Amino acid sequence: MTHDAIVIGAGPNGLVAANHLIDAGWSVLVLEEQPEIGGAVRSDRSVHPDFVHDTFSTFYPLAAASRTIQGFRLEEHGLRWTHAPAVLGHPTPYGDWAILHRDRTITAALMEEQQPGDGEAWLELCAAWDEIGDALITSLLTPFPPVRGGVSTLAKLRRVGGLDFVKTLLSPVVDLADVRFTGSSPGLLLAGNAGHADIPLDAPGSGLMGLMMTMLGQTVGFPVPEGGAGMLTRAMASRLESLGGQIETSTRVAHVEVVDGRAVGVRTADGERHEARRAVIADVIATQLYGDLLAPSDVPAKIHERMQGFRLDPGTVKVDWALDGPIPWASRPPHDPGTFHVADSRLEMNVALQQVHAGHVPAQPFMLAGQMSTTDPTRSPAGTESVWAYTHVPQKTVADAGDGSVRGTWDAADAERFADRMQARIERLAPGFGSRVIARRVLGPRELEARNANLVGGAINGGTSQLQQELFFRPIPGLGRSETPVRGLYLGSASAHPGGGVHGAPGMNAARAALAHHRVDGVLEPVRGVARRALRR
Ligand SMILES: Cc1cc2nc3c(=O)[nH]c(=O)nc-3n(C[C@H](O)[C@H](O)[C@H](O)COP(=O)(O)OP(=O)(O)OC[C@H]3O[C@@H](n4cnc5c(N)ncnc54)[C@H](O)[C@@H]3O)c2cc1C
Repeated sequence: MTHDAIVIGAGPNGLVAANHLIDAGWSVLVLEEQPEIGGAVRSDRSVHPDFVHDTFSTFYPLAAASRTIQGFRLEEHGLRWTHAPAVLGHPTPYGDWAILHRDRTITAALMEEQQPGDGEAWLELCAAWDEIGDALITSLLTPFPPVRGGVSTLAKLRRVGGLDFVKTLLSPVVDLADVRFTGSSPGLLLAGNAGHADIPLDAPGSGLMGLMMTMLGQTVGFPVPEGGAGMLTRAMASRLESLGGQIETSTRVAHVEVVDGRAVGVRTADGERHEARRAVIADVIATQLYGDLLAPSDVPAKIHERMQGFRLDPGTVKVDWALDGPIPWASRPPHDPGTFHVADSRLEMNVALQQVHAGHVPAQPFMLAGQMSTTDPTRSPAGTESVWAYTHVPQKTVADAGDGSVRGTWDAADAERFADRMQARIERLAPGFGSRVIARRVLGPRELEARNANLVGGAINGGTSQLQQELFFRPIPGLGRSETPVRGLYLGSASAHPGGGVHGAPGMNAARAALAHHRVDGVLEPVRGVARRALRR
């Protein structure tokens, strides 16, 4: 059957693209390889039947801040956001906590107690973000170069210190924290949030990442969908289907068909053909699009060459626990956080990230973690806790920086040994944690990729977020927008600008590009027809 557009992959970006195209009146078919929609935004009960665990991603500040996702009014399709008492916590080995609370005066008061002066400095940073944050996020989420958002950001920069603030944004996160604060809590929060991407904490770009995630936490929180992450993508799918869009699961696209340089449809692994009248949008990792789905002859040699330079982000090991009680923190936080970070210090965090970049399995992994029942009590029976933690590991392991027990082969035994190392990190902060575990699931790089082909080797962001592969260098220099060398084919996954995270921007940018080109084609086609007829005469 023929559709105006075919979307390959029902991740958040594919579903955003599909919803935008259906709103424009196009007929849309989404083809998803897995038996379930949602990509890396899914939840399940396979750890323990009484517990909901998010299979991959969990907290969605970027979705909550995204005008695109807000515009879909997903609440009408069952989505309800919920928040933990505090956004984020970072327990230290000395028994105190760095806490980010959605009420900035509470965050500031806690910092002030620990280090006089830091509270006021925090409120000043928040005030600067109030001026510039919206415009900055808009610029980052639109195609590069961001014309409208960019002009608005430039206009607002003067009010927050002009070039000095630009320098702040470009600084490594460690410098950003040291210039403004004396105590350790603000730096732990900023650096931990920068660690959500794979940018070294002493490299440019980490400051912007840390500041953006922290200030999003401060302003919109780290909300989660009530009932599980999957409720977000289910709401997107429900909206799409209510408007006539179609989704087929358990259907892997094996090939994008190209005729005269234009994408005309796809062929599935079962050999079925689907024609696309106007566009094919690929919510797949760039390596799959250029390496597998397109015939080598449909891609210019230069693109093949440049794809050799495409860099994945590191691998990931994620552990989920079902606990029969709350996490037994040695020292209780002043407000219960939904997300928590595990690292003794910024130095330890940086060492772990550097070890991963150097191919070493970290000895003391820096972990992002969450108390999901604290955030959303529907996730497990009253009094219990649904917990997760993930950390990064090398794509190619040279050595284990720890006790040598982890080989980096990531078979089940290797991943379990590393999960023990991760669990021991929490046990130190919460003695008795292990005795509360009633079920545990370890998803190493292989298990992640088996559940979602975009997570190659456990890479969670569709390619490194380091500066050299961002903006107009994403996925490769010369292809910094959704357009591909094949007409009518658009890259709409996290491999496209602005990269990973659940904000829907790559999907939206791809859908907008498809609509714009179709409009231009509509104008040019009569002219082309006249030219063709003239040539024939
Ligand atoms: C463990 C983990 C934790 C994360 N935590 C967070 C978080 O807390 N907050 C946040 O904002 N982001 C987080 N992220 C990142 C975020 O989930 C991703 O950036 C986002 O899901 C990317 O969306 P996408 O639509 O581009 O791709 P995906 O979500 O990966 O979806 C791609 C879809 O395409 C399908 N597909 C691939 N190839 C084919 C094919 N050939 N045919 C048909 N279908 C195909 C896949 O099965 C998949 O369903 C996390 C990711 C992971 C893995």
